[in-house]
Amino acid sequence: MSEQHSLPPLPYADNALDPVISANTLGFHYGKHHRGYVDNLNKLVAGTEYAGLSLEKIIAATAGRPEKTAIFNNAAQAWNHTFYWHSLKPNGGGEPPAVLKQKIEAAFGNVDGCRKELAAAATSQFGSGWAWLVLDGDTLKAVKTGNAGLPLTMGMKPLLTIDVWEHAYYLDYQNRRADYVNGVLEKLINWDFAAANLG
Ligand code: MN
Repeated sequence: MSEQHSLPPLPYADNALDPVISANTLGFHYGKHHRGYVDNLNKLVAGTEYAGLSLEKIIAATAGRPEKTAIFNNAAQAWNHTFYWHSLKPNGGGEPPAVLKQKIEAAFGNVDGCRKELAAAATSQFGSGWAWLVLDGDTLKAVKTGNAGLPLTMGMKPLLTIDVWEHAYYLDYQNRRADYVNGVLEKLINWDFAAANLG
């Protein structure tokens, strides 16, 4: 039997992002939603050509194939959530490391311009999805994807992400997605993770 995908541990305690993201939200989001994608994926790939493949390989092999949508969605959501947890940290926000800041200034003018573009992507995504800071060629961009979509299948390198599915904020903010997004950008965003992903 090939190895199953496992739910990676959260990089912090479930109350570490409070009050921007409550322990209640984080507990459901990680323990129910993220775990659900991993469990569903394991069921869907058991006994198929995808069993034992990495998430990245499954995502690449199933993207854009309507008959593989369920496998793609669960693999991509498993990947996106792990990337999201690392895109946040307690006492995040503030100023990015110099190497990232230079690229931000080249693309957005300044760090505040970058935050505004990310907030615009996050709040304008219609329905469920994700906002991303990506490297497109050598240029930083703020982009959005719907549902399980991710930049890996669009030829772009993700640096950080913000989950804008309602399950990411509804317990804490109800319909006020912008308040959640601005709180994340000001107090939780992990610029060190984004800089490390410049690679
Ligand atoms: Mn989510």
